[in-house]
Amino acid sequence: MRNKLVLQTIPSEILRQKALPVEKVTSEIVDIAHDMIEMMREHKGIGLAANQAGLLHRIFIADLSGELINNVLSSTEDISGRTELIIINPEIIWKNEEETFTYDEGCLSVPKQNADVVRPKSVIMRYTNHLNETHEIKAECLLSQCFQHEIDHLNGVLFIDHLSKLKASLLLKKLEKERKFRDE
Ligand SMILES: [Zn+2]
Repeated sequence: MRNKLVLQTIPSEILRQKALPVEKVTSEIVDIAHDMIEMMREHKGIGLAANQAGLLHRIFIADLSGELINNVLSSTEDISGRTELIIINPEIIWKNEEETFTYDEGCLSVPKQNADVVRPKSVIMRYTNHLNETHEIKAECLLSQCFQHEIDHLNGVLFIDHLSKLKASLLLKKLEKERKFRDE
């Protein structure tokens, strides 16, 4: 019986830690990835990094259902019919420095808070999949934003770190207020 994963929210320490490379894609790693998919669906996210599930593996899940599949520009992995991607040991190998994309980002680990974050519009990411194959995917807009947001998580970085100090502190204050309200 595997331990059920628990969603980590700030100020959980693990969100600020750097996840470690997966040395080998074992069946245990694949099981964890599937548990993460379940967690992402349960909380209605479009991405989930291992830190958010309390684990320090360089793994994240990206939603491919709905419109997000349209943000895939090219892919060496056959993803037809897939509703999510299992991404292990990701690495951005190219990013569009000329064009940016702004999105009102949110995060399951920073409940109910959103803010505009500007990132490169498109990226190429190299990764290992659940079959231990190396692949590359080029994505734009929201899916590219998702990849960058999740890789940030694996490096202990949150979307609020991309905001001005003032904006970030306002957002954290709001979150603290809501937490107190909930606990009362
Ligand atoms: Zn997040």
